[in-house]
Amino acid sequence: MSMNGSPSDTDGCAGTVDRLKEFRSAGRGAWGEVSPAQWEDWRWQLKNRITSIAQLEKLLPGMTAEERGGVLLANTKLALAITPYFFNLIDPADENCPIRRQMIPRLEETHTAPWEMSDPCGEDEHSPVPGLVHRYPDRVLFLVTDRCAAYCRYCTRSRLVSNAAGYDFHADFGRQLDYIRKTPSIRDVLLSGGDPLLFSDHKLESLLVQLRAIPHVEFVRIGTRIPLFLPQRITPELCAMLRRFHPLFISIHCNHPRELTTEVRDALGRLADAGIPLGNQAVLLKDVNNDLTVMKALMHKLLMCRVRPYYIYQCDLIAGSAHLRASVREGLEIMQGLRGHTTGYAVPQFVIDAPGGGGKVPINPDYVLSRNSDRVILRNFEGKVFEYPESAEGLPTQPPPVRIEHPELV
Ligand code: SF4
Repeated sequence: MSMNGSPSDTDGCAGTVDRLKEFRSAGRGAWGEVSPAQWEDWRWQLKNRITSIAQLEKLLPGMTAEERGGVLLANTKLALAITPYFFNLIDPADENCPIRRQMIPRLEETHTAPWEMSDPCGEDEHSPVPGLVHRYPDRVLFLVTDRCAAYCRYCTRSRLVSNAAGYDFHADFGRQLDYIRKTPSIRDVLLSGGDPLLFSDHKLESLLVQLRAIPHVEFVRIGTRIPLFLPQRITPELCAMLRRFHPLFISIHCNHPRELTTEVRDALGRLADAGIPLGNQAVLLKDVNNDLTVMKALMHKLLMCRVRPYYIYQCDLIAGSAHLRASVREGLEIMQGLRGHTTGYAVPQFVIDAPGGGGKVPINPDYVLSRNSDRVILRNFEGKVFEYPESAEGLPTQPPPVRIEHPELV
C-alpha cells in the first residue's frame, strides 16, 4: 500500500498517528493582513478563491511542470477553485501533499483510458427531468446547482460542476419539485450538486419548505463538502434554519484527517448541536488515503467530530482520474484492517458505484467462507474460522464444532 501525505504524516510510528489525529487550525497563511471579520466571512472566502495560475505562482512557488500544465488546461475541463482557508492546508514543500493532490490540477487529467467516462454513474440516463436522478426505487438525487466552494480533481460530476466543460446546467426547481410531488414512491430526497450550502439561507430555506410540503417525502438529506472547504459557512443562523426541517441528515465528504481542523470540528459541532445526524462519504484516492493508518485516523477523527463514517467509495471511472484511483484490493485491505480492529461505528461500507448506472454495490472482504443448507463457515477479523448452523430447523443432534482448528479441511 502506498504511503500518503507529507513524510512526517506517514513515518509509521505511534507519533504519526498522534499527528494525523491532532486537530490544528488551518491558520491564516498568506492572508495574515486580512481582518478577522473578513476571514470569518464565507462570502469573502468565496470571493477570494484561488482560481488562476498567476495566484498559484505566488502562493505555491514550487509548482511542478505537471501541475502548471494541469492548471493551464483546467478551465476547459473542471475549473480550478480553492478557498483561502482550505488552501492553507496544502503543504507547499510537498508535491505529494494529500490536499494538494485533491485540489491542484495535473496534466495527467488529460490522459483518458477507454473505460473511463464523463458520466460514470449513468446519471443523465436516469434523469426523468433535468437535474433530478431517479436511479433507486424510493429516493431521488436532486441537483440544485453546478457550483462548489472548491473543485475536487476526481469529481464524479465534473461533466457539469463548474461548467468548465460547457454542460450548461440549470436547475429547474419547478419541474424537479413537480416530479417529486407526482411520484409518491419517493420518500427520500438527497439535495446535492454542486453544493447546496452555497445557497443563501433564504434560498435554501425556500427549497426545503417546498420539499417538506410534499406529504410522501419522509426524509431529506444534503450532500456537501462545504464544512470542509468553507467552515465559515456553517453559521448559527444556518443551523437554526436547518433544524426546522427535521428529519434532515447531512453527508459530508472528507478524505484525509488533515481536513478535520479545529475550524471544521467547531462547524460540525454546530450542525450536530442542531440535531442533524452527520455521515461521511470518503473517496479512496491514490496517495491521499489509500493507507490503513491514514484511513483509520480519518475514521477516528470523524467520530470525534460526531460524524459517522458512512461510505468509502472506490473512485468512479471518471475521465482523467487514473492517477488518483487506488485499486479495489487496497480498499479491501483497508476494510480488513478496520473491521474488528476498531470501533464498529468507525467502519464505513466500502462500495463501488457500478459503472454506467448500476448503483452502489457493497464490497467486503470474505468473512463468509462457505454456506450450504446446514451451516455457514465464518472467518473472524483474526482469521479464525467458526461454524454456525444455517437455521433452527433440521439441526443435527450433535452440535457442530464452534471453532474450527483446521479450516483448510472444511
Ligand atoms: S465538492 Fe463534490 S460535487 Fe463539488 S467538485 Fe468536489 S466532489 Fe464534485
